[in-house]
Amino acid sequence: MLTHSKSKKLEVAISKANSPKESLLKGIETLGGISRFIDKGDQVFIKFNLNLPGGFPTNTNFEVLEELIKSCKEGGASKISLGSFPVKGIPIKVLSDILNLKDYFKTIGAELAFLDNSNYYDKKDLSIEQLKKIKRDSFTNVKINNNDYPIPNIFLNSNKFISVNQINVNPLFKFNLSLLNSYSIIPAKFRKIGKKQYNIVEYNSADQYKKDTISNILNIFTIKQPDLVINDLFYLLEGAGPFIYKDSKIKKTNLMIIGEDAISVDLITLKTLMLEINDCEIIQQAQSKNFNVPKISNIKVLGEKIEENIINVDFCVSKIEDIKIKNISICSGKYCSGCFNQVYHLLNFMKTYMVKDLKYNPTNTFLIGENPIEPEKMGNFILFGDCAINSTKSYNFRKLIIEAKKNLIGEAKNKLFKKPKAKKKPKIKEKPNKNILELPGCPPDIFNCLELIMNYYGKENVPNLNLLTKMNEFWFKGKLNDELKNWEAL
Ligand code: SF4
Repeated sequence: MLTHSKSKKLEVAISKANSPKESLLKGIETLGGISRFIDKGDQVFIKFNLNLPGGFPTNTNFEVLEELIKSCKEGGASKISLGSFPVKGIPIKVLSDILNLKDYFKTIGAELAFLDNSNYYDKKDLSIEQLKKIKRDSFTNVKINNNDYPIPNIFLNSNKFISVNQINVNPLFKFNLSLLNSYSIIPAKFRKIGKKQYNIVEYNSADQYKKDTISNILNIFTIKQPDLVINDLFYLLEGAGPFIYKDSKIKKTNLMIIGEDAISVDLITLKTLMLEINDCEIIQQAQSKNFNVPKISNIKVLGEKIEENIINVDFCVSKIEDIKIKNISICSGKYCSGCFNQVYHLLNFMKTYMVKDLKYNPTNTFLIGENPIEPEKMGNFILFGDCAINSTKSYNFRKLIIEAKKNLIGEAKNKLFKKPKAKKKPKIKEKPNKNILELPGCPPDIFNCLELIMNYYGKENVPNLNLLTKMNEFWFKGKLNDELKNWEAL
């Protein structure tokens, strides 16, 4: 099952054209045409990006997929399937229904693979046991470095694997490499990284979250490497990407970077984005784990020249404090990539969708990481993650200091009987500050956080969040959600 990139040609095409479709075709032609990658009768699996219901280019550009499917058919492919696991909690069927994917791919001669079997969720005549059997039969458990990964059989059994990867900026890894696209061939539940047996302080200071994430990405990459890799930069999201947030911006570069060796394609993409191997921890770790990471000078670049196509991209902020949100101040301590990644999306979500809610709740302080700076202003305190919760137990903001009420009757009597005024110190009382919201987890789960935020402020005080939650419930909750539970859904 394992393949190595050693046998792959270190040739990468940089193609530029007026439309994504032309850019793709030009790139494939530059490499020798589709027949170099597809043989007659091949069963092709296309791994694309399918993250959220909307927001171009959050998912792979469908114009590119359509052209690629046509090319594979011309190359003689007998069956073409497309698949990917979306972000946590979203069944593929929901995305397919919203975006009309199943019918759309069918009309162009391909098949959407419901990797999570969500197309069976509403079948009334199947028992729970039958549903579970379907689930078992559609995956193979692959063990790598003592980790178990459920891999879809449709992917394992295909003769050709094509990765079409939409390049966008990424808060953890600067941008979405094709290696990250391969990673979402496993369900989001199995991509979740959590503190295992580690001590939390050591886990934080070693940035174990990032190390574990990269190990998983590389483990999955070794299972089956693509035969053709397309890094689509024709349009890319810069700024606050990789999803559509207030500070995300779309950039048009007219470029695609294509080849058969995923690491070479990623390296040339890095170079075009003015990054070196040292800027990319995934490639660095691949190198240290003896993956075949070629020298840039050993990669033959065809088509456009790198130096004439350098792209200056606005990457995601690297410090939480740099996400500026009206009515939210941030006090940070030492935090690792786990909390950074989650709070990055949470804060950008709040900045994009909760402007009005924050207007109603004007003073909020987010505390994140171990031993964050003591906040100066009073208001609402939001403790993000176990490190922030545990290390601030004795902080001043945790209690309110109030002066005990004056004894007005006693003072009046003293005045009446002209008793000398005894100089008493005002009585001080302490009580726990109730304006604190703890968002636990190592790292916290963003969906749980949104639920806790709504409970804390009250629905009427966060109308935008309430409305969004209701809209999401329409798609993601209710009957379908019950079926997800029956299925022990992925
Ligand atoms: S709570 Fe957050 S910062 Fe602390 S170790 Fe866990 S993920 Fe890292």
